[in-house]
This record gives sequence, C-alpha cells and structure tokens, in this order.
Amino acid sequence: MSFSHLGLSDKVLGAIESAGYKTPTPIQEQAIPHVLARRDVLGIAQTGTGKTAAFVLPMLTMLEQGRARARMPRTLILEPTRELAAQVAEQFEKYGKNHKLNVALIIGGVSFGDQDTKLLRGVDVLIATPGRLLDHSERGRLLLSGCELLIIDEADRMLDMGFIPDIERIGKLVPFTRQTLFFTATMPPEIQRIADTFLHNPVRVEVSRPATAATTITQLKVQTGRDPAEKRETLRRLLRDADNFKNAIIFCNRKREVALLHRSLVRHKFNAVALHGDLDQSARTAALDAFRSGEAKLLIASDVAARGLDIPDVSHVFNFDVPHHADDYIHRIGRTGRAGKSGVAISIVAPMDGKSIDAIEKLTGQTIPWMAKSAAAAEPAPEAEATPARAERHEHRGGDRGERRHQRPRGEPREPHRPSNEPRRPQQRPREVEEADTSHLPAFLLRPVTLKA
Ligand code: AMP
Repeated sequence: MSFSHLGLSDKVLGAIESAGYKTPTPIQEQAIPHVLARRDVLGIAQTGTGKTAAFVLPMLTMLEQGRARARMPRTLILEPTRELAAQVAEQFEKYGKNHKLNVALIIGGVSFGDQDTKLLRGVDVLIATPGRLLDHSERGRLLLSGCELLIIDEADRMLDMGFIPDIERIGKLVPFTRQTLFFTATMPPEIQRIADTFLHNPVRVEVSRPATAATTITQLKVQTGRDPAEKRETLRRLLRDADNFKNAIIFCNRKREVALLHRSLVRHKFNAVALHGDLDQSARTAALDAFRSGEAKLLIASDVAARGLDIPDVSHVFNFDVPHHADDYIHRIGRTGRAGKSGVAISIVAPMDGKSIDAIEKLTGQTIPWMAKSAAAAEPAPEAEATPARAERHEHRGGDRGERRHQRPRGEPREPHRPSNEPRRPQQRPREVEEADTSHLPAFLLRPVTLKA
C-alpha cells in the first residue's frame, strides 16, 4: 500500500515525499481513509506508531477547503503536555509546508498576549493543552462554536493527569456535529466511558504495542540495594560501561527524584539535563533542545514529562526506578529502538521492586533477563582510586559551560530534600567526592599506567 491510495491531496503527498516516507504505517493506512470520509475514529495506538501523521495528513487535506475566521478555530487538537503540543505543531510545519495555514499553539507557561493576537487573526489549527484553552475561552477571547474537527490525543494520559473534567467541559463548547478523533494507548473503563460520550458511531483502529512489536530493544535488569546512593552508583557504573552508547533517557518515578538524580549526575560530571513537571516552560524546552541536539547526553525525566515525546535515536533507556504501572514500562522503553534502530533498556531493580517487575513481565509476556554478572556486579569503581586531593580539584573546577548552565534549572530548589532513608551527607561525601571526577571517562583511560623513566 502506498500513500497515493489513501485519498490525500497532492500537496500533502508532496510533503510526504519530501519527508522521505515510502509507505504508510498501519495506523495511517487504517485511519486516514476514514478521517477523510468524515467518520469519527477511535485510535488505540501510542507514540512511535506514526499516529500523529495519521491525523495531521488528512487534516491538511480537509483544510484546503474553507478559511479561518477571527477567534473561531476550525479544528482543535488537545494534548496533555506542552511538549506534546509543541511536537504536533512541528509536524504541521513539516507536513504543511505546501499549505498556507494558520497554526496556533495555546499552552501554559508562555505569554497570553501573543496567543491572543494569533487567535484574533483566525486559526485553522489550534493545538492546545486543556487548562490554557479554557482560560482563553473563559476570557471570551476564543469561540469553539466553529470547530469542525476535534482531536483528543493521548486520552489515557489526560486521565492520569486529571484533565478529564476539563476535556468534558471543552466537549460542551464544540458543536455537537463536529467530527472527533480520539487517540489513546490503553483503554481503561474511564477512557471507554469518555470515548462513548465523545464519539458517534466511530471506526475503531487498533495497532499493536511497540513493546511487543519492537524486537529491536534489548531489555535487561540489574539488581541493586534499596539505598538511593547505591542505586545512583549502580547507574553510574552502567552508564560508564554501556556498549554503543550515544545518549540515554533515565526515568524516575517522582519529580523530586528526577531533580535529585540530575544534581548528583551533574556533580559527577555527566552531561545531563532534567525534565519534570515543576520546571517552568523555558527550562523544559531548553532541556529537551539540549538533549535533542546532542549537547546533553542524558535526559532524566518523570513519566508525565516524557510520555509521548518523539526523540529519535535514543540508544539507551534506564529505569532508575522500576515503574509502578506496567504500562509506563512499555512507554518508557519505547523511547529507544525506534524506526528499526536497536536500543537497550535497563531496569535497576531494588529489593522492593519484585511485584512491579512481575507485573511488567506478565504484561509484556517476556521474562527480562538479568544482566551478566560481570557487567552488573559492583566492581571496585576505578575512580575510587583517585586521590581525594585530585578529586577535590575536579569537583571545584566544574564542568563545561553546558553542564553548568543546567546545574540548577530554574524552578528547582537550591538544595534537594534528603529522603529519610538516604545516608546523611557527611557519611556519603567521601565516596561521592572520590567518584566524582572520572565517571565520564571510558574504563581504559582509568587503568594504571607505568611510565618509563
Ligand atoms: P508518532 O507516533 O506520531 O510520534 O511518530 C513517530 C515517528 O515516526 C515520527 O518521527 C514520524 O516522523 C515518523 N513517521 C510517521 N509516519 C511515518 C511513515 N509513514 N514512515 C516513516 N516514518 C514515519
């Protein structure tokens, strides 16, 4: 099947050709003809399946007819996070390069004024997070009564983030006769209920989970102790020893843990940035940009912040914390091994994680192998050989400019709150200082060298 059989316009086909896509993905093949036939669609698919193009491409074709009116967007796409909204806007830029459409991004954390000016000019495609959209609507700056097409993306994530009441309110502001496309990765009962209220006689399109399809991901687990400092040490060892390492996303279960781990890795001279919900928008954008461009090699993130992000070419994913929900595991490891590339996903397993691992293995239908003893075992860390004096010098010299810039992202507290089960700093300090200098160096550089006289 080629794109030319799906009913897309010539302009859209031209943009697809420029993007270098040869064949539609299963979700595109199944959904696009129904979207063009103005049917409601229930899409069960997650990021990595090409689902964004599955709605953006037919939207572009349909929007070629008609024009926008002031303050009355013609179509509305709801996204749970600002990053996802920005990512969809980028796709409109890419696929809509042959169109003259007004696309507006209405997300929190940026100025109201600029957004208002855009709305006033008339918008063909409005991409929004629910809260900021309702703010504009309540101020009377936005009318949704002209909206012909509503897209609810990542609905299960909206549920996790408590957005369902907002989505229901927005549903009452758009015309009853609009077309609706509803995308979700999973179908819990609450999502089924929302889908039933939003969709009229929908076509159901379901594509397999990337975790079951992507055989390109090598999954491993590594045993560690329950002490966070020991977990961090295990992670540093894994980072140092990783084969074919290009970059990595490291997941933590809580925002506070993200901030804490980020600070620790930066202190150890790793080139790391952090992404979590407490950071302001500019810090989040800067972190993502640095990671995407390769300026930062490690992105430490929470599930909410990283869900659905399309970052091509991630070589490694580390679960610093094993996720409590097995679904999150699938989302996390799906950040690597994309587009046929190989990837590695390593989970650091503490004694209390047994139940979570069982649930993950049950869901994926696979037992995740333990990493080979030699790679996973706590070898004496080569950097422990560094003399404290030398370590101290490195500690004070600081990293390169990029590292220093990300050392304390805006919005983060100056000092992390120390978890009650973590050893007190004075005890931890000598080990941390000793290890701080060399953890970014390949092991061979740390072998003792005998110099000839
Ligand atoms: P998504 O699931 O929408 O996040 O898309 C995942 C990635 O797949 C994005 O980087 C898209 O650019 C890419 N993509 C989407 N459709 C195709 C296609 N038909 N062929 C190759 N890559 C695609």
